[in-house]
Amino acid sequence: ENTKTMAVFPSHLEDSRQAAARLQGVVDSVPLQKEKPLEKLSGLDSGPAIQFKDVSFTYPDETRLTLENINVTLEKGTKTAIVGPSGSGKSTLLQLLLKMYSVDHGEITINGHSIDSLTDESIWENTNVVLQANHFFYGTIRDNLLLANEQVSDEEMEAVLANVQLSHFSLSDQVLEKGENLSGGEKQRLAIARTMLKKAKLWLLDEPTSSLDAITEKKIYEQLFELAKDDTLVLVSHRLTGIEKMDQIIVIDHGKIIEAGTFNELMQQQGYFYKMKQIEQSVFM
Ligand code: ATP
Repeated sequence: ENTKTMAVFPSHLEDSRQAAARLQGVVDSVPLQKEKPLEKLSGLDSGPAIQFKDVSFTYPDETRLTLENINVTLEKGTKTAIVGPSGSGKSTLLQLLLKMYSVDHGEITINGHSIDSLTDESIWENTNVVLQANHFFYGTIRDNLLLANEQVSDEEMEAVLANVQLSHFSLSDQVLEKGENLSGGEKQRLAIARTMLKKAKLWLLDEPTSSLDAITEKKIYEQLFELAKDDTLVLVSHRLTGIEKMDQIIVIDHGKIIEAGTFNELMQQQGYFYKMKQIEQSVFM
């Protein structure tokens, strides 16, 4: 319970608390790992950006394994797509990474550190996240954008609105509770705008453009990939168009990784991904 209380402390308070503890030599002399204060993510940079090591997980009250023996490494600065049928476990992977649930078996690391040793807060602070449901509150567009980063200027916010094809919005426009007065596509674009302002180095995007038309989607991806070009990015996607340039494609089915590789490797393999691609082409042609 103590650690939960600490996680909501303003970070500078936690910093000074930890610094004081270090000065007294308290932290280093504590023998039990569990009693160490949870680490913050910023500044930790040993090991790959993300690693899932033999991770298995079942949702509470479920009996069937949702994810089974997931092993995957995402090197820093790489772009990874996670694809697979609906219900295969793609979103669950991101939710485990964000500590929304705990794994039953195995370990997840960020920058080489087990997420068990990181605060939820530090993970959120250091990731640009777009989930399928995004949080908006009653206030202006400006208020909703500042949630990502309080330091940004109006000019930056306006530029980002243009990047996500929302220039017709003004910063003082009103957003209702839960974004009720916005369309699904507008909410997605506003959520993407927010991640663009945040400037974290790890992007976790779950179907961020599923409600957008193909032309708008393409324009936004161009901006997004330009911004994220040196960062690590994970994109969960139904659509297979435009994923040729990803460094790694992971195919999940029934909670297992069934194929992984580059676009060309998976196409040459002529397995599941190849079939998905064939079907997508025949549906949209
Ligand atoms: P989609 O492409 O439709 O978003 P997905 O591949 O992201 O699907 P998940 O949302 O990860 O799939 O779901 C994986 C499995 O876990 C599904 O069978 C789903 O019904 C189940 N599931 C998801 N969320 C929960 C939950 N909160 N409680 C119980 N089961 C869940």
